[in-house]
Amino acid sequence: MTAPAPCMHRAPTLMYHSVSPSTEPDPHLLRIHPERLAAQLGQLRRRGLRGVSLGELQQAAQEGRAEKLVALTFDDGYTDFLTHAVPALARYGMTASVYVIAGRMPGSNDWDRDGPRLTLLTPQEVRAVAAAGHEVGSHGYSHIRLSGLGAAELERETAQSRRVLEDVLQAPVRGFCYPYGDHDEAAVLAVQRAGYEYACVTNDYGSPGVFTLPRFYVGQQDSGLRLRVKTLRHHIRIRSRGGR
Ligand SMILES: [Zn+2]
Repeated sequence: MTAPAPCMHRAPTLMYHSVSPSTEPDPHLLRIHPERLAAQLGQLRRRGLRGVSLGELQQAAQEGRAEKLVALTFDDGYTDFLTHAVPALARYGMTASVYVIAGRMPGSNDWDRDGPRLTLLTPQEVRAVAAAGHEVGSHGYSHIRLSGLGAAELERETAQSRRVLEDVLQAPVRGFCYPYGDHDEAAVLAVQRAGYEYACVTNDYGSPGVFTLPRFYVGQQDSGLRLRVKTLRHHIRIRSRGGR
């Protein structure tokens, strides 16, 4: 029997995308209103929990102090992370991970044909996010699915994206987030080879490990009870897969 990976933890990891008061159509339910986000953070705090970046949670888990932590993650690196999420997080003394697309700084979510067009953080804004105490991780180089890619494309999406971000931040980039949560064995190996310390997937509890950390979706509909239920469901799934 294989021993669990050294810093696999069972703390909940919440996955967000855009944070905005916009009322534009949102067919993929990627947007949460800043007030709803603040309400969720308040709920976590009332339960004695603190939201931190996934990198900080990994560190805390290794040191055996992850008990009262949850990880907060935001995919794609939308400009609205800086304008709406950062102030809400600051109000509650919490931090988060934001996973940016190294080849799209600046850029927009033009991979998403039928959703609202959203701008992505510029390099300067990415530095501002890091300066505000949040973790910046890689969401690949171009926001494409990694499974089935050849070696050169995998290298660009994992290692090159890391180099670009480290150049922008002048600091190590430890975390990777698979676009669409999509990964296969070669992709996981490429992420490890690129020097990342952890990687996260999406609503996938098939084989939780340091390079396939499960997260669950949180959106505008997730108030009080629903968020509580999702958190409990996360614990049950992790436990049934041997996480600790
Ligand atoms: Zn994405």
